[in-house]
Amino acid sequence: MNSNMNISENLKTIKSQIPQDVTLVAVSKTKPISAIQEAYNVGQRIFGENKVQEMVEKQEKLPEDIKWHMIGHLQRNKVKYMASFVDLIHGVDNFKLLKEINKQASNNKRVINCLLQLKIASEDSKFGMTPEEVGPILQSPAFSELQHINIVGFMGMATFTDDQEQIKSEFDTLKTTFEKMKTIKSTNCNLHIISMGMSGDYPLAIRCGSTMIRVGSSIFGARNY
Ligand SMILES: *Cc1c(COP(=O)(O)O)cnc(C)c1O
Repeated sequence: MNSNMNISENLKTIKSQIPQDVTLVAVSKTKPISAIQEAYNVGQRIFGENKVQEMVEKQEKLPEDIKWHMIGHLQRNKVKYMASFVDLIHGVDNFKLLKEINKQASNNKRVINCLLQLKIASEDSKFGMTPEEVGPILQSPAFSELQHINIVGFMGMATFTDDQEQIKSEFDTLKTTFEKMKTIKSTNCNLHIISMGMSGDYPLAIRCGSTMIRVGSSIFGARNY
């Protein structure tokens, strides 16, 4: 496949299909600077990466007004490399990681927005907290001490399957958890984002209540790992 597919055309098509209040994260992992620049040139400003080092290298070479989202599984020892600029971390799935993000955000005199990743898929390989774990964490005294983070919502990945009913029921779980928790309001918890939906399932995710979709291959073409 042509690696520099029609990026601007793809973006236009997707944007015309999604409601205006749904945020599009262009997932640029493994893709070159030139591809990101092409998307940037037609107005895209939010890009998602799943490796810290790759994100840092790209950030240094690209315009400063890009909002960088970390969408991958994150190791604690990598947080410091992106703490000065990351706009939103999608995959936070444990309290120790939250503490480290808070510490590095504090070192950089800023607040870092985070989404808690919920495990909605039946596959063992997907990371995340269970819906039952989330409430107690958000209401714990230890959490309230973390004033350099802001939990702005939840993120989830559905099972990799063709079974639309199963995917729908997993998205419904995320939406239901969000609805239950969104009344929890504190200085570091302001839930308003539901990050779900990728190239293969974003129309369904939006019907299930997604407010932020993470789309890679439908914009930039297939990845060769
Ligand atoms: C790669 C990735 C995506 C984008 O996947 P596509 O199928 O290429 O749209 C979305 N979310 C996460 C967490 C990813 O790792």
